[in-house]
Amino acid sequence: MSDREARVVAQVNKTLFLGGKWREASSGSTFPVEDPSTRKVLCDVADASKEDALEALDIAAEVQPEWARTAPRERGEILHRAYRLLMERQEDLAVLMTLEMGKPLAEARGEIAYAGEFFRWFSEEAVRIEGGFSTSPDGKARFLIMRQAVGPCMLITPWNFPMAMGTRKIGPAIAAGCTMVLKPAQQTPLSALALADILTEAGLPEGVLSVLPTTDPGGVTEPLLKDGRIRKVSFTGSTAVGRMLLEQSASQVLRTSMELGGNAPFIVFDDADLDAAVDGAMLAKMRNIGEACTAANRIYAQSGIAEEFSRRLSERMGALRLGRGLDDNVDVGPLIDDKARQKVQGLVDDAVERGAEVLVGGGRGEGPGHFYRPTVLANVPFAAELSNTEIFGPVAPVMPFDTEEEVLHAANDTEFGLVSYLYTRDLNRAFRVSEALETGMVGLNQGVVSNPAAPFGGVKHSGLGREGGRVGIDEFLDVKYVGIGGLS
Ligand code: NAP
Repeated sequence: MSDREARVVAQVNKTLFLGGKWREASSGSTFPVEDPSTRKVLCDVADASKEDALEALDIAAEVQPEWARTAPRERGEILHRAYRLLMERQEDLAVLMTLEMGKPLAEARGEIAYAGEFFRWFSEEAVRIEGGFSTSPDGKARFLIMRQAVGPCMLITPWNFPMAMGTRKIGPAIAAGCTMVLKPAQQTPLSALALADILTEAGLPEGVLSVLPTTDPGGVTEPLLKDGRIRKVSFTGSTAVGRMLLEQSASQVLRTSMELGGNAPFIVFDDADLDAAVDGAMLAKMRNIGEACTAANRIYAQSGIAEEFSRRLSERMGALRLGRGLDDNVDVGPLIDDKARQKVQGLVDDAVERGAEVLVGGGRGEGPGHFYRPTVLANVPFAAELSNTEIFGPVAPVMPFDTEEEVLHAANDTEFGLVSYLYTRDLNRAFRVSEALETGMVGLNQGVVSNPAAPFGGVKHSGLGREGGRVGIDEFLDVKYVGIGGLS
């Protein structure tokens, strides 16, 4: 590690953030956090147990009523100060994120800015929690509609966006007046701990947030979900874990927000602006090393342009530089671990066995890290395993198609429904296909849809609820109606 990297890691509190205080795990246990580029241990972090989690819940439940009564402007100002602190510390936080997760530094900087925007957006939303007032249809009563904090929340986040997936939940929860227990991913707890420090400095009252890194995710979260005092779980991660959390949430009938896996189709029609489509495919595929739920997983190119599109895409993918995200001029970092790399290799092998052609890449990169080379596969048959599996890596499979009907059928033929992308210059087709795609979001002539001011989320097995946009705060509010009678 360079002096700068060592300084950035040394700055982070590596204990639990429990009820507003930094302290060791009750068991005294710790676990190591690794740099996926070097596979060297960066530091050890406190390892929370069920007892720590229940203590965090006791505090969250105790503080909840007073926190919900805090003036909305005050909650908004905490978020706004936290936004500014994130931006002031963008450079150090980006280095920290690259160390624990591997993404290139420029992308880590981008994620800090994206994460900060959730705080900025919800600082503005905190003062716009509106209700309603109306007269009953028979004229005899009045309806007063109010929206109130749902109560203590369990937040569970993944490793691929270690900061933004946290702020996307913490932002609206603070704006709505909810207390929280956050369990970050085991592989990337440092960004979440740094965020707790920033929120404390921004004035978040003690006990509103706890951050509990752990090697026992189920052991820490399940007792809380079944306790009865947690009223909401907001989860981002795989569909398999999401399904299990939904089952666990049923016993206490919890409110749930589920941001789960994706399998995004990226459709390029013959009439598309091909330069724009290749730019869009690079973004949709390679953002975050391909480790994004929004990553283009199946690229469908219409037969008139399929060959030319694949050629141009291969040229761009082949020029990308693979390496440690903190080194200069690196475009693509390592995958998170060896299991992820083996999964990607298995999917590429399967596609090749079924007749796909490797145009570029197709194997592991050099060095001790979990590197995989940016890869383009051409003529991938629709039946290939990767058509129905989230690749989560830098592999772009191009599948030729002939008709709109055929591609729509293939695009929707999946249990997932997070996002789809579509490139065409035909306005009629743009509307027709956007309406027919079974996904929560569509990128029409653009390769990125994530925006704090827009409602992010999926349909089918990609999840429930929306994060960001005007509706993002609704996930943390209950609607109450007061019927007013006795009027004359
Ligand atoms: P994951 O294995 O589901 O893990 C996500 C989080 O759940 C981690 O904090 C993990 O803890 C925790 N977890 C694992 N098992 C658990 C259990 N039994 N009980 C409670 N919590 C548990 O997913 P991942 O591999 O980290 O993340 C990649 C997935 O997230 C992909 O499928 C991706 O599409 C999805 N994702 C979706 C969105 C979206 O907005 N839709 C955004 C980003 C990512 P540990 O770290 O300890 O395992």
